[in-house]
Amino acid sequence: MHGNGGIRMKITDIKATSIEGNFEWIIVEIQTDEGITGTGESFTGVGVKESFYSECSHGVDVKEIWSIKNILIGEDPRNVERLSRKLYTSLSGIVGHAGTLIHVISGVEMALWDLTGKALDVPIYRLLGGKYRDKIRVYADCHAGKSEDPQSWAERAKEVKSKGFTALKFDVDKPSHRGPSYNRCLSNSEIKLMVKQVEAVREAIGDDVDLAIDCHWKYNTNDAIKLANALEPYNLWWLEDPVPQENSEAMKKVTDSTNTPICTGENLYTKYGFRDLIVNQAADIVAPDISKVGGLMETKKIAELADLYYISVAPHNICSPIGTVAACHVCATIPNFIALEFHAIDVPWWAKLIKKGSQLIEEGYIKVPEEPGLGIEINEDEIVKHLKRGAENLWNKRK
Ligand code: MG
Repeated sequence: MHGNGGIRMKITDIKATSIEGNFEWIIVEIQTDEGITGTGESFTGVGVKESFYSECSHGVDVKEIWSIKNILIGEDPRNVERLSRKLYTSLSGIVGHAGTLIHVISGVEMALWDLTGKALDVPIYRLLGGKYRDKIRVYADCHAGKSEDPQSWAERAKEVKSKGFTALKFDVDKPSHRGPSYNRCLSNSEIKLMVKQVEAVREAIGDDVDLAIDCHWKYNTNDAIKLANALEPYNLWWLEDPVPQENSEAMKKVTDSTNTPICTGENLYTKYGFRDLIVNQAADIVAPDISKVGGLMETKKIAELADLYYISVAPHNICSPIGTVAACHVCATIPNFIALEFHAIDVPWWAKLIKKGSQLIEEGYIKVPEEPGLGIEINEDEIVKHLKRGAENLWNKRK
């Protein structure tokens, strides 16, 4: 029985494994002396899973060996924010303020919230301030049509809409513009083709289904503005990452030059990474990825900062159901939230990774769980079927 909110509770071990889905889904597990276990998910990346087991030192005179385990074991898991900060301050001097470390922290933080919720017998959203909504709107990432032919885009849009989604996203930079384009240029004929593809999708789904378009940081500022202007008649929900995200002044120039709303942020790390973007109002919508940006509380802080400028939040998400449900808990607590991404429409077993997963997404929404912690039960048998080769089996050993 959970519900131990007592004085003493200690982390005894931390592990990570990975599932091979349409991305690598890195699952984090934290164990305690109370027998309660927390589960989280870290965004994929080279060395992310290995970081949970690796050690690093301060140099030749090895007085201090830092590792995720060393930093966390013996700590009270309910000090979620302090432990996230402890990982950041202990390790960022060696491994940097972005990338792998922040992916790791995000998964750890998620698992700590799961543990804390279970220990206190409350769902995570209550620990984050309570909810604005009972169900979370998700939008389906459709990728693209089967070919360049706009008709195939219309067919893909109809197929996904028929599954109950009320919001879709397509990638106009694929498949025809996949090649390396180091000068970031878009030709007139490429823009024309993109416009035809978007027009076909819009006609297929009607005006009431929201439609976002992604460019994956491909284009130069001028051509991005041309594209955004050319897409204005289709009343997009947003145009995502039209220019690279490193330069918020260039992003702002695009945002200020078009009526098409501009969205960015999936590649930014921590609230510090979002600061310039938000205070300069360089985008209309921000898209932090909860499993990558630093976790649930970090996302809430970014949302709060965005809300000062009436900027909306539409989190990026390519997670398994574990990271997706964690995202739902924080999305429930964000006033300026609009929708959460769902990126596994072509993975038929995605929902089976958790028990009752077949009911997870209904008519384009996920109900926010009311059970303690994340409020989900892992489907161990299904997870074990899809473990990445060489990944540790955290579940079978207990049977
Ligand atoms: Mg994107």
